[in-house]
Amino acid sequence: MAERKKILITGAAGFLGSHLCDRFIKDDYHVIAMDNLITGRLKNIEHLFKLENFEFYHHDVSTFINVPGKLDYILHFASPASPIDYLKIPIQTLKVGSLGIHNCLGLAKAKDATLMIASTSEVYGDPEVHPQTEDYWGHVNPIGPRGVYDEAKRFQEAMTMAYHTYHKVDTRIIRIFNTYGPRMRLNDGRVLPAFIGQALRGEDLTVFGDGSQTRSFCYVDDLVEGIVRLLHSGYHQPVNIGNPDEISIGDFAEEIIELTGTDQKVIYKDLPVNDPKQRQPDISRAIEILDWKPSIDRAEGLKRTYAYFKSLTEEELNEKDHYNFDKYIK
Ligand code: UDP
Repeated sequence: MAERKKILITGAAGFLGSHLCDRFIKDDYHVIAMDNLITGRLKNIEHLFKLENFEFYHHDVSTFINVPGKLDYILHFASPASPIDYLKIPIQTLKVGSLGIHNCLGLAKAKDATLMIASTSEVYGDPEVHPQTEDYWGHVNPIGPRGVYDEAKRFQEAMTMAYHTYHKVDTRIIRIFNTYGPRMRLNDGRVLPAFIGQALRGEDLTVFGDGSQTRSFCYVDDLVEGIVRLLHSGYHQPVNIGNPDEISIGDFAEEIIELTGTDQKVIYKDLPVNDPKQRQPDISRAIEILDWKPSIDRAEGLKRTYAYFKSLTEEELNEKDHYNFDKYIK
């Protein structure tokens, strides 16, 4: 039997990281999951602990990392990912995108491993080009509240390209647009868990601003398929992965009201500073290079996601915060 490929996934206990663990276990890899559990949660990967080809390292990737033996792939997905998270822990957000990627790239170089970074549509900032193509440089406020996330991710791309160019590390850059699905944290502040959580708790749905800002939501399984294809593609330039089906946040709230059958109404709150007005991926590159496009539409994806949130316990539904700040932030 051929030896299993070995993959390190950082941020493995988070929403995307945990789905990636599932996928690479399914594809018969040896998975090393790494997470410091600030915003991730063990519950997302606990079902894998019994497997002999799964290991968990409780570790902060912003500090030196070592993995014994060979390593074939590294996926650097560790980062707080929602605006309220990275506003609460701005310095850790900057560190995981900068020191964290430096450690991962050093490890990739030492092990001759292929490395993929989770970049983001946030590199486009509040975009002046619509839909966003990979060659658009973006419109980001470095010192605005989102700057800690956006600039960390931009630095991460620059560092990854530099290691590719100067050290010939085999790298991939995926720019992920809004993604949703089971295992999102109900209280992470993202619009979808916020709306569904409010509907389930019998609260009004909070639309920020007038609700005319747009987003384009991709179901997590489609994203994971795009990641796998990109990883195996040998392509080093950035690739957008997202679902181009764009919707205004106001209309999205109406869809959630219909989905959940709630009697609650929409209430309006202030728009966060530098909240992008529009966002839609141009996925021509993914179609051409990866032969990838999303296959799960919003109606189906929302149905599956709602089923997950409905299965949560009362306690989970009402959880306000689960941060392990005292334990993990120095
Ligand atoms: N939003 C909202 N109500 C909420 C949470 C978010 O109207 O309770 C809006 C937010 O202002 C933004 C959009 O929904 O325009 C998507 O927000 P999210 O935090 O999910 O992700 P972003 O794309 O802004 O990173």
